[in-house]
Amino acid sequence: MEVATASLKEALQEYFGFDGFKGNQEKIIKSILSGRDTFVIMPTGGGKSLCYQLPALMSEGCALIVSPLIALMKNQVDLMRSYSSLDNIAHFLNSTLSKTQIKKVREDLNSGETKLLYVAPETLTKQENMDFFRELSPSFIAVDEAHCISEWGHDFRPEYRRLREMINEINPDLPIIALTATATPKVQSDIVKNLALKDPNVFISSFNRSNLYYEVRPKKSKEQAIKEIVKFIHLHKGKSGIIYTLNRKTTEEIADMLTANGIKAVAYHAGLDSSTRSKRQDLFLNEGVEVIVATIAFGMGIDKPDVRFVIHFNIPKSLENYYQETGRAGRDGLEGNCICFYSHKDIQKLEHLMRDKSLSEREMGAQLINETVAYAESAVCRRKLLLHYFGEETKEENCGRCDNCLHPKEKIEVKAGAEVVLKTIQALNERFPIEYVVNIIIGKNTPQIATFRHDKLKEFGSGKEHDGHFWNSLIRQMMLEHLIEKDIEEYGLLKITEKGHKFLKKPYSFKMALNHQFDEAGDGSDEEEVIPSGPATADPALFQMLMDLRKQVAKDKNLPPFVIFLENSLEDMATHYPTTMKEMEKIQGVSAGKALKYGKKFIELIGKYVEENDIDKPDDFVMKSVVNKSGLKVFIIQNIDKKIPLETIAKNKGLNTDDLLDEMETIVASGTKLNVDYCLDEELDDDAQDEIIDYFKSCETSSLKAAQEELVDGDYSSEQLKLMRIKFLSEYGN
Ligand code: ADP
Ligand code: MG
Ligand code: ZN
Repeated sequence: MEVATASLKEALQEYFGFDGFKGNQEKIIKSILSGRDTFVIMPTGGGKSLCYQLPALMSEGCALIVSPLIALMKNQVDLMRSYSSLDNIAHFLNSTLSKTQIKKVREDLNSGETKLLYVAPETLTKQENMDFFRELSPSFIAVDEAHCISEWGHDFRPEYRRLREMINEINPDLPIIALTATATPKVQSDIVKNLALKDPNVFISSFNRSNLYYEVRPKKSKEQAIKEIVKFIHLHKGKSGIIYTLNRKTTEEIADMLTANGIKAVAYHAGLDSSTRSKRQDLFLNEGVEVIVATIAFGMGIDKPDVRFVIHFNIPKSLENYYQETGRAGRDGLEGNCICFYSHKDIQKLEHLMRDKSLSEREMGAQLINETVAYAESAVCRRKLLLHYFGEETKEENCGRCDNCLHPKEKIEVKAGAEVVLKTIQALNERFPIEYVVNIIIGKNTPQIATFRHDKLKEFGSGKEHDGHFWNSLIRQMMLEHLIEKDIEEYGLLKITEKGHKFLKKPYSFKMALNHQFDEAGDGSDEEEVIPSGPATADPALFQMLMDLRKQVAKDKNLPPFVIFLENSLEDMATHYPTTMKEMEKIQGVSAGKALKYGKKFIELIGKYVEENDIDKPDDFVMKSVVNKSGLKVFIIQNIDKKIPLETIAKNKGLNTDDLLDEMETIVASGTKLNVDYCLDEELDDDAQDEIIDYFKSCETSSLKAAQEELVDGDYSSEQLKLMRIKFLSEYGN
């Protein structure tokens, strides 16, 4: 069917009230209306739905729309109905409907008034529906989120694989329109092959989201990353944002930390019941909260136009995921910041998540992860990398909207190196992936290399003056410049392009920036521990000075140092630079009383240090930690006042005795007295107690082990000593 442009525009006005088409919409609609198979690749928000909705309304019969998300089908149907006066204009069929509902839908379909029928892939592939659909003689079939068909996509659904088979049963000549928001060249070819699209018209829109800013930051520790996030959000006060993490516990922790710092945030993950989830999602949509901290379970189909930042607390498992998730920022075309935290440890976490998958799935997963790693470590324009991943070229030298373009690294001449790479790939007959090629170049023998006897090649070790990091950077950048490419059918094998062959014949200047190097050692981003105020961010010089001051004060007062302040407290001071009494009271383990008693000298020292070293102490930014344990503390204090046996207290709170004693110690260290005589007197006689107290009065360290070694004759258990230290801190420390 040929349709005139004018009548298409009229239909657009009539049904949707829009003035004109966006991007390729018009050409796409004409293509499917003319009965041609059509393949649409258009970024999220580009207006894909209209590409099948309008032709469905204009065609004889009903169009079938395959969509993977049952949860969103109702929305889509409601939306269609809102454009029309007829409620039966659109329907959906999926497993959520009752028998009576299904009967009603079938009646409407038979009446001919229904123009769009949304189906889940498993509904379509059910045999009992086949005959019905055949009778119905649909106008065409739309396959939305078509990347689900490919294992190389970010959301593989095996049922999508059976679609062609089912379409053939309905009508082998039924026109198909496949649509997706992300597709690498490999995924594109999978879609065309699996749906057996016949000579399709392919429409690819640019994936460039020019309003988005991309940045990768190192994650040295969990605490440091959260601190940076809080700081970032303070700079974007009142704006909406999404933070993605890998696990539920972390979403809760981060949401708590944000809340403690005056940011309205909630967690969102699959462990919450569905009503809580939809409540939180609505809160976010209606600006009841600023930030949602989510596992990837959140966001599919979320259409909030003014999300100003998307932060990834862990690197995502593929660049497609990353593109998709960051795509939720700045959908209104205004500011959108996409920041990804990166540490080597997170890669292991991703790999760990795949442990139960089949070998081939793990290999595929590992390759996708490699691409994200390459993105994170590269010093090349982030936008260029992302677009290249989707097979799109950029001419722009400096995009001006990514960290690497704003802070470019110096480029070095690597003409000779590029030749080494090409010659090595040639010598390997283009049959090996990056890691293998790099190992040959640096001369690292692996069992695989030994098996192939490639250590005998003259290229083996031909580039050992540089390390693997160098060669990885170079190969990645040679791919960007199309000197080499990866075979898209056999993912990962490096091939030399025509341009590469030309380069080999007549080499020319080739410059590159070395990848960023991320510190392997420092990334203790342990998901399991509660956020500590650890030494990760403490200022080591100041910390040492505070330790010295503590020693001095202790000597003057004739008390052991730890009675003055615990080491944790000093670390916290060296992290937050308290220079007023108020700030000092916020340091962990420091009560108002204790701050008053010992704080002055420390505040003076810190003040002087801050001034001399010109430290930019962020006044407006004092990171507060979560006081989630206060309830427990109150419970312990009350129970000890009531002289309840420690084992009972511990048992009631699900703690072991050791944890309870630690908890008690922080209580007394921050200035609350606990009278533990009732526990001690059963255990130790007066002489023993005196001996231990004397020891604590004169000791330099708070180490229990040292105490045990010193008091060897008494043969005290560490529990007894801990209890004595609590008594001591309680009596002398405050
Ligand atoms: P996609 O599926 O590509 O992510 P949608 O189909 O959900 O995008 O469309 C995104 C938004 O763009 C929707 O709010 C839609 O109403 C709007 N839209 C689509 N086409 C047009 C158009 N021609 N003119 C104005 N708005 C449009
Ligand atoms: Mg869509
Ligand atoms: Zn850039």
